[in-house]
Amino acid sequence: MINLDETVLGNSLVLKRSPYRRQPKAFESLTKLSAQHGQKHKKQVCKFEEGQDVLARWSDGLFYLGTIKKINKFRQSCFILFEDRSKSWVLWKDIQTGVIDSGEMVCTICQEEYSDAPNEIVICDKCGQGYHQLCHTPKIDSSLIDTDEKWLCRQCVFATTTKRGGALKKGPNAKALQVMKQCLPYNVEDLEWDIGHKTNTQQCYCYCGGPGDWYLKMLQCCKCKQWFHEACVQCLQKPMLFGDRFYTFICSVCNSGPEYLKRLSLRWVDIAHLCLYNLSVIHKKKYFDSELELITYINDNWDILHPGELADTPKAERYEHILNALNENKTMFMSGKEIKKKKHLFGLRIRVPPVPPNAAVNLEKEEESTSHEFKIKGRKSSKLIPNVVLAFAGVLLIRQQICRQPVTSEGAPDQPQPPPWRI
Ligand SMILES: [Zn+2]
Ligand SMILES: [Zn+2]
Ligand SMILES: [Zn+2]
Ligand SMILES: [Zn+2]
Repeated sequence: MINLDETVLGNSLVLKRSPYRRQPKAFESLTKLSAQHGQKHKKQVCKFEEGQDVLARWSDGLFYLGTIKKINKFRQSCFILFEDRSKSWVLWKDIQTGVIDSGEMVCTICQEEYSDAPNEIVICDKCGQGYHQLCHTPKIDSSLIDTDEKWLCRQCVFATTTKRGGALKKGPNAKALQVMKQCLPYNVEDLEWDIGHKTNTQQCYCYCGGPGDWYLKMLQCCKCKQWFHEACVQCLQKPMLFGDRFYTFICSVCNSGPEYLKRLSLRWVDIAHLCLYNLSVIHKKKYFDSELELITYINDNWDILHPGELADTPKAERYEHILNALNENKTMFMSGKEIKKKKHLFGLRIRVPPVPPNAAVNLEKEEESTSHEFKIKGRKSSKLIPNVVLAFAGVLLIRQQICRQPVTSEGAPDQPQPPPWRI
């Protein structure tokens, strides 16, 4: 049986890892075993039940605590009621359960219980779930099995390091994340994209394979074109703004190591557009007073905007530039005058994020300087609620901050996230 040496550290239950070894069945054929290895991504077993408390990955890449209300086996999704009372359909691939105490340790990926070298089941030191060496992404090296070194599964590495504003950059888990990010838990070629390569039917993005909204806080890799959550990248110096695509970004897979990030320059019209877009996402309305709301927002977020060449513009001069940009780009911005309201009110005609200049330009030159364009700095995290670790259903689950933006969808389970909505 499984050798779990339970140690209580504070309120956390630490499960000592040891590989799960079972006497091989006499007639278990090699053919059967290799077939099992081959089907790891195809086989989806429903391990959920109504009323079950689970962690569900949201489109920001973070996990949130919720309860399963309905299960749709055909669509392989569950209808989940979250702690903040919002509800949504979530695909099985994005739901993490606690350990099911059935007496037998099975692999979380393939649900099989065999455990023989060189494909033994290894138990995660954090969540207590088992993974075959070959089913886990990346594969678990046999040398790890007989050491006392702690091992965290992919889910737990992500759950302990990803956060709003960017994933942890320092510490053993951050290092483990960096390594895990170099391979994806899904096959990129299998994804079916829309024409603009912004959404895919599988709702599978980033290193985490979770759902995502390209128009919120995601970076697109200029090489593989996949989108990555702010919460999962480790290259950000400051938190992102919604819909900010003024970056050249290369993911860890394409860069075979740390991510590459470079800020693209912004013009006044881009600043006005990006900030009006953010205000509209945050406040869910269309018009904003340019003199009060818009310029205040711009000044408050001046550093996060990374305005490049415009960075040194004194506060007193910024409003004039912004007002000119608003008045000179009438196809983009709508003035309050047009609807017989105050002339200082402005809104976006279509609520979409600004389109950045071609990110691929000058890329080859830049690549050599690689990933440390933004030096890692200490950042105050006072606005972030620290992760809360819950001893839950016999297993440690990590709950991240509950405050989801901006919409929940109660549509059909397979419905992709809504495109940027028109006003
Ligand atoms: Zn397995
Ligand atoms: Zn784990
Ligand atoms: Zn992610
Ligand atoms: Zn890439």
